[in-house]
This record gives sequence, C-alpha cells and structure tokens, in this order.
Amino acid sequence: MTKALITLNAGSSSLKFAVFSHDGIALDQKVHGKIEGIGTAPHLIAKDMSGRVLTEHRWENGSGLGHEDFFRQLLDWIDEHLGDAELIGAGHRVVHGGAQFYRPVRVTPSLLGALKALIPLAPLHQPHNLAAIEAVAAVRPQLAQVACFDTAFHHDQPPVASRLAIPRALSAEGVKRYGFHGISYEFIARRLAEIDPALAAGKIIVAHLGNGASLCAIKGGRSIDTTMGFTALDGLVMGTRCGSIDPGVLLYLLQHHGMTPAALSHLLYDQSGLLGVSGISSDMRELLGSDNPHAIEAVELFCYHIAREAGALVSSMGGLDGFIFTAGIGENAVEIRRLVCERLAWLDVAVDQDANARHDAIISTAESRVIIRVLPTDEERMIALHTTEALDRSARAPAAAFLPGLDRSRPTNG
Ligand code: ADP
Repeated sequence: MTKALITLNAGSSSLKFAVFSHDGIALDQKVHGKIEGIGTAPHLIAKDMSGRVLTEHRWENGSGLGHEDFFRQLLDWIDEHLGDAELIGAGHRVVHGGAQFYRPVRVTPSLLGALKALIPLAPLHQPHNLAAIEAVAAVRPQLAQVACFDTAFHHDQPPVASRLAIPRALSAEGVKRYGFHGISYEFIARRLAEIDPALAAGKIIVAHLGNGASLCAIKGGRSIDTTMGFTALDGLVMGTRCGSIDPGVLLYLLQHHGMTPAALSHLLYDQSGLLGVSGISSDMRELLGSDNPHAIEAVELFCYHIAREAGALVSSMGGLDGFIFTAGIGENAVEIRRLVCERLAWLDVAVDQDANARHDAIISTAESRVIIRVLPTDEERMIALHTTEALDRSARAPAAAFLPGLDRSRPTNG
C-alpha cells in the first residue's frame, strides 16, 4: 500500500502544509496548502502541484477556533483525498532543538517537555511549532510525529564559530550561537550536490532571504558558520527583526527608556528591520516599488548587511567558490541580487544582468571567479525526507506512543 506523509510548518497566524506519497523509494509531493488568518478569519486552501485548487474553506466568525479544529478538518480532508494511501506520519518544522536535539526525532511527551523549555530562545516560532504537534496528538493520538530542527544543520560547526565571548558557566548552560534556517540550508546543500557536485564540494555562501533572513557558510556540504546566533534575531536586517545590534543599545533601552523585557522583545522582533527603518512595510516587494527615501534606505541597509556579513563568512571559510540566493527575496528579487553582487565585486563576483533578470539558475558571467546561483529552497521536501528516515529508525527501535503514560522512550537523537 502507498504511504503518505504530511509536513507542517506552523507560525503565529498561519500554517503551511504539504502532503507527500512515499513508495518506499521516492517522495512525491501531491498537495501544498496553507491556513491563514488563524485567530481572526481563517482561510484554508490546498492545491495540487499544477496549482489546481483541491479544496478551499473560509470560516466565518472563526476567531474562536483553535489549532485542534483546523487539524481535525485538515486530517479528515487528507484521509478522504488520499484514497487507498495510508497516512503514516506528520513531520514538523521546529525552530529550536537546543544543544540536545540535532537530528530529526520521533515526538514523545518527554521530548515535547524538553522543547517547551526552549521557548524563551525562539519566542516567535517555537510555541506555534509545538502547539501544532500537540493539536495533531490530540486529534490523532496514534499518528507518528517527527520534529525536524532548524538548528540541527549547524550542530557540527567548529566551537570557535558557536562560542560567545561570555563567562564559561553561561556557555555551559547552552548560551551559544546555534544558527537557524538549517532545514533550508540542508536542502540546498543536498540539491547542489546533485546538480553541481564540484561546487557543492567547495566553499559556498547560501543566502536565505525571506521574512527571516540569514547567510550560511557551507564548506564541503557542512555548515561552518552562519549569521543567526543564540536566537533568530542575530545577523542580517530582516522583515521586522533588527539583526546584529550592539548589546549596549539594549542596556540603554532598559536603563534609560525604562523598557520592560516584553516591550524590548516586541521592538526587536516585530517593529525593527525593514519595517522599522522604512516606517512603511516589512514586505520587500512593497519597498522595491516605493520611491519613499526611507524605503530606499531600508533596502540599502538590507543589502549592505548581506555583503558585510558575507565578507565575514568568506573569512570563516578561507575563500569563496559560490554564492547561492534562495527563499522569497533571494529567488525573486532581481534588484536585491544585483545590489548584493555589486557590493561583492571585490571578491571577483560578476553578474550577468540578463541572466539575473530571467532568474536563470546560474546568473554569474563566464568570467566571474565565483559562481552565483539562484536555487529554490524546499523545506517541505527536506522535512518529509527527514520524517521518513526518522520513522524508519524508530521502527527499528522499541515502540514509542504519544499517549501520556505509554511513553517508554526517552528523548534521544536516534
Ligand atoms: P518566509 O520567511 O515568511 O517564509 P518568504 O521566503 O516567503 O518568507 O519571503 C517573503 C519575502 O519575499 C517578502 O519580503 C516578499 O516581499 C519577498 N518577495 C516575494 N516575491 C518577491 C518578488 N517578486 N520581488 C521582491 N520580493 C519578493
């Protein structure tokens, strides 16, 4: 019998999902969809891979509906839609795995407890990721669930890249640089190994530029360094997040503006970045279409910091063979790619502007010493792949059920 998997990427007000069939060898994506407006006016839409709408539903007065209501409807719809195929598991994007979890792992109550303890490290994402796991468990207690971590790909970075220059006791407590967007980076590293193995074996920077944005230095397929750190606030200027900031600014705001930790967190996570600088929007499309000087300045700052951090990562790797753009901005914004590459010209980076405008897979000129690629990321496929691998591993291990009281497993990375 054909097996099927669902992947879930849960945010504060939206949930992205995908359905894959799995014949034991290949994963074939059948459906992608979204629920938006959770908590206000929920809207579910699911499409097949040709873009045909398979189902659409709007909930009037849906503000009182919680995750469980959506998952019940979603999983019932998937069951109906699957026909003979059997849904064998749900794979979740979980932003933070802390120091302990660095491989995809089957969800158990004890794992969930350990992941809840990491909420302060990823307050924007982790609570929603975990709420989705709990909702699925409540609706389908027997369905196997797997957590895939955004931090995992960076786990083996050299200590010099992950250590913070603070007293050792705090480092021992886990206060260190973890890095994020790892599911996307792992997908890109694996895909590049298929389409351009020579480049994949070299030194590359991947620029994941979406609402959240980061760079990763990947050498021979492994993460060497990355711009996000202890939390997903660090590094580049993002849609609403500030990126790297002098910690002295935070002390100043606490001591002289009397800000509470909650107000400071809101400022840094939700009111800064492109939105804070432009005063207009966090959306790059909107800023690129605006002639407001503050919008122009926000775009300039975004590109400036990408180039600045890229310079640092070149140093971490000791060279650069390739630069890869991915995610919403990286895959679509011709102007941003042009501006970033112009700033990297000192590294012998040269863009073919026609190829850039056409969104070609390779946008560098034949003379460019560094190969520049545009490569769409596919976090859903990476989660699906990890989920099948984790389920295969756990099938060989003693049984673990989600039901409280039946948990015979411990949170492990096996
Ligand atoms: P998320 O981090 O939420 O997954 P995405 O990867 O979808 O975000 O990226 C969203 C960003 O991509 C937004 O700033 C959006 O404006 C930008 N974007 C999408 N398409 C384009 C485009 N054609 N030109 C410029 N920016 C774009």
